[in-house]
Amino acid sequence: MSLRFFNTLSRKVEPFVPRDTGKVAMYTCGPTVYARAHIGNFRTFLVSDLLHRYLKYLGYDVTWVMNLTDIDDKTIKGANAEGISLRDYTDKYIALFHEDRKIIGITDATMYPRATEHIPEMVKMVEDLVSAKHAYLVDGSAYFKIDSFPSYGQLARLNMEEMRVGERVASDEYEKEDVRDFALWKNWEEVDGPVAWDTSLGKGRPGWHLECSAMSLKYLGKGFDIHLGGVDLIFPHHQNEIAQTEGVTHEPLARYWVHSEHLLVDGQKMSKSLGNFFTVTDMLEKGWRPREIRYGLLSGHYRQRTNFQASGLDSIKQALARFEACAVNLEHADGKGGLPELRDIVARREQEFRDAMDDDLNYPEALAAVFNFVREANTLCQEHKIGSEERALAVATMKRFDSVLGFLSLDEAVADPEAAEIEALIEVRNEARKSKNWAEADRARDELTARGIILEDRAGKTIWRRK
Ligand code: AMP
Ligand code: ZN
Repeated sequence: MSLRFFNTLSRKVEPFVPRDTGKVAMYTCGPTVYARAHIGNFRTFLVSDLLHRYLKYLGYDVTWVMNLTDIDDKTIKGANAEGISLRDYTDKYIALFHEDRKIIGITDATMYPRATEHIPEMVKMVEDLVSAKHAYLVDGSAYFKIDSFPSYGQLARLNMEEMRVGERVASDEYEKEDVRDFALWKNWEEVDGPVAWDTSLGKGRPGWHLECSAMSLKYLGKGFDIHLGGVDLIFPHHQNEIAQTEGVTHEPLARYWVHSEHLLVDGQKMSKSLGNFFTVTDMLEKGWRPREIRYGLLSGHYRQRTNFQASGLDSIKQALARFEACAVNLEHADGKGGLPELRDIVARREQEFRDAMDDDLNYPEALAAVFNFVREANTLCQEHKIGSEERALAVATMKRFDSVLGFLSLDEAVADPEAAEIEALIEVRNEARKSKNWAEADRARDELTARGIILEDRAGKTIWRRK
């Protein structure tokens, strides 16, 4: 079996066939950089990261573009409220976005284009749409004419007849010919303050949907492979992206559309507007380690809503402790002779892992295969069948799994800030024990317990982890 996933365009699970053999071009709608992204946003970005990692595991040469929406109503409002330039305002949140995504192990995309750096491409697209009669200009603004694009609504499965055709509503968009038409370019208004571009379309700024069409076409070309985002982007954002790009290219914008479900809190979507959100920093402050955050956010299938529960941390810790124990067992294993057995286990579990990931990125099942591998490797350690050759194979297998899962290597990258102090206390305890100074040894141990550190003495070495 080879890779297949659910394509929102057809509402079917389809085999994945790339546009160019061996290569994948994918695009993710990135963050709107007006505030620090919350872990709901990051769940969506993690799904792109998971696919990116898995495509690389399969050996594809992947170009992954994630845009940064650094111009929209919210960024303009934020910059103007603080009295700073849009650039300075959004720079701050872009830096925080990168900081947070690195903490939870989201791999680097090939590029992070900013909308504000692609104004000429957007203006050109509007001009082309106007020439093709897919768009019109009114009072310095440009609108996409939905009537001119018969397949409008296909991605979102909209019944266009049911939408109020031709009705004019009393809104600030009264100048549109049809209420369904959407803005490509917005005329400068007082509230925009200093944020504006002087272009052949007049003084104004681009609409949000246009940004992604212009940047994805520029960097990934026509009919690229995979477009990703959260389910709330299907309509209107992605539907509008399709209309804009295809109105110019007459080719499918992307061939596969992958949408991930939301992270919920008490049954409601985590969102900035509801105020029911946490950032990665909030989670670290609550005592979650980076690997625990990543593990928790990726749990469940990407097409199922996941409830965020702070209380889930205990079971995440337990699950991760099984991995951690396996790593320690392998490190200290001193047996031999288990190579044929281990090879069988590796082949079987790796096949299961791959079958699961191939099946619409069935992460929970893929993880189950890795857990089985860990259990079996532990058994071989206990049976003294793991020596240096076996250890090398088992460790390489775990590394391969982790190139997709991405949580095992995480806390190595973000070292525990207290590691040096903890190790010093362990040293004090061990020295005290050697000199039979039990009171001193107990004092050091109590201090470590108070800090939430668990110690395990193995093969003459003390291993520590957080509770
Ligand atoms: P924004 O920064 O608002 O443009 O959103 C960035 C991405 O986060 C989009 O793909 C949204 O669909 C996604 N998103 C927003 N809220 C959630 C949530 N609660 N769970 C998962 N994804 C979300
Ligand atoms: Zn987008």
